[in-house]
Amino acid sequence: ARARIPLVAGNWKMNFDHLEATYFVQKLAWLLRDAHFDFKRCEVTLMPSFTSLRSVQVLVQADKLKITYGAQSVSVTNQGAFTGDVSADMLARLGCSYVIVGHSERRKYHPEDDANIVDQVRAVLTAGMQPILCVGESMQERRKGIALDYAVGQVHDVTRDLSDEEASRLVIAYEPVWAIGTGLVATPQNAQDAALAIRNDLTESFGSDVAQSVRILYGGSVSSRNAVELISEPDVDGFLIGGASLDPEELAKICRLT
Ligand code: PEP
Repeated sequence: ARARIPLVAGNWKMNFDHLEATYFVQKLAWLLRDAHFDFKRCEVTLMPSFTSLRSVQVLVQADKLKITYGAQSVSVTNQGAFTGDVSADMLARLGCSYVIVGHSERRKYHPEDDANIVDQVRAVLTAGMQPILCVGESMQERRKGIALDYAVGQVHDVTRDLSDEEASRLVIAYEPVWAIGTGLVATPQNAQDAALAIRNDLTESFGSDVAQSVRILYGGSVSSRNAVELISEPDVDGFLIGGASLDPEELAKICRLT
């Protein structure tokens, strides 16, 4: 049996206003309840836009839902003259459990380099939340045959100064850039190879107890058609899901299959 409880994380990206988000969460909760879904067997978390977080919090509290939630990015600073930014403390106060850090779309459209990503990870951990650190190669590295080294290198560079306790609170999402939103899914073997290579690097840096407790997710065109074979791999501990997380029925199905 798997020691780590799998995590299904829905990354809504820039979709749904707060009313649509509320409707979605109610519907998902209803579908999972109807299916007698066991949240002790698999955790379900949603990443709405900042503007929906308060509505999701109110609903989760009022209906005592077991669904958790988080944000898609965070400021590296705590407060002050940073127009448009949102701090980790603000997110923690809204009951966020997770923050996605270093998603490939953030790395592409915003000036997020490794130094900035290290600071985001640190900010999230300091505020008592868990970062979901996204790494993964583009087609260029895959073609050159250096996909695993690239993804492991990204993890290594961002995590090297963390303490063992901090590292134990990480979630890592292996998301090959060529698989995100493309319908091209990595093979279960690709996903397992990457997750194992990342876990081996964590073992070297932080020891086996930490490495065995960190959940490593796969992301990239996950759907109810490929979830079962991916989750069957021993080092794949769940999913970060974009497109398929926008349909409550499809997401509920993936949760049941995970
Ligand atoms: C993502 O954006 O994290 C993602 C995996 O997207 P998709 O599932 O749509 O490929």
